[in-house]
Amino acid sequence: MRRLKLPAASGGESSICKDKDIWIRSLTPRQTAGNALAGRFIITAALISLFICMPAGIRAAGTGDFPEIRLSDRILILKHAPWAETMTVIDAGPGLIVVDTWGSPSAALKAGSRIDSIFHKSVKWVINTHHHWDHTFGNQAFPGADFIGHKNCKLDMEADYQDPEIRKTQLEAGVKLAEQASTRRYMTAVLEESSGKDFRLCPTNRFCSDRDTLRAGELSLLFYHTPGIHTRSNITVFIPELGLLFARREFAGSGPFALESGADPEMIARVLKDILASGTHILYLIPGHGDPVANPGLKEAIRYLEGL
Ligand SMILES: [Zn+2]
Repeated sequence: MRRLKLPAASGGESSICKDKDIWIRSLTPRQTAGNALAGRFIITAALISLFICMPAGIRAAGTGDFPEIRLSDRILILKHAPWAETMTVIDAGPGLIVVDTWGSPSAALKAGSRIDSIFHKSVKWVINTHHHWDHTFGNQAFPGADFIGHKNCKLDMEADYQDPEIRKTQLEAGVKLAEQASTRRYMTAVLEESSGKDFRLCPTNRFCSDRDTLRAGELSLLFYHTPGIHTRSNITVFIPELGLLFARREFAGSGPFALESGADPEMIARVLKDILASGTHILYLIPGHGDPVANPGLKEAIRYLEGL
């Protein structure tokens, strides 16, 4: 594996992961934990209709249950209609990383079987980019994994979804706000499924702080807490060895950004600069919904944020 220039560490101790396969080292705490209460249930349907960039060379296939996008031998994106949620599988060598797990546990279980049949390896790390149900309710399909996210992800999953009545209220609110009938049908199905006896909420159980590095098998994952762009639990994840960025789609362009309470444009710009400082060419930005964006223009996003 080629050597990579990673952003320089500046001290700090491991806050969580102690076992030999995984470590997270707190590097540079650069921001507060995003105390302001961000909106808890922001519907992202508008994102789905945004500009979608399907890069040349992507191989789209599928089992018929859901579309698959193969970015390379070790990167597979499974998409879940009708909200085009992305579940990304990365072969890290000794095990698999899954980033986001869809909203339907039964669909995620099918995805798990498909992942087994392709990679023949276990999922060791599940990363939740934020706490919303459409990114986390499928966690229960990967019971042997560590669930990694910001501590706000656990707090808000538990606050919004642990209690069955509150969970129902949250999902019903989503159904009312959804603009498309297909989305309403999907949310209603998830509402029913999550009311059943088989539903298990699996909140994140390993936490990244403001800027952390996780060693997962052969790969380095850089975690950045980026609150206030969508939720206070949002993280941005950068994998230099693969040129992959898991981030909001807005980071791939010149804005405008829908910033919420708790957002700090300067901090977000600093995160993007930190990623660029690695000298790594970002091949793809993978958003939570829709297709990957090839060669995302982080510099334009930085310019927009610095102009606010
Ligand atoms: Zn969301």
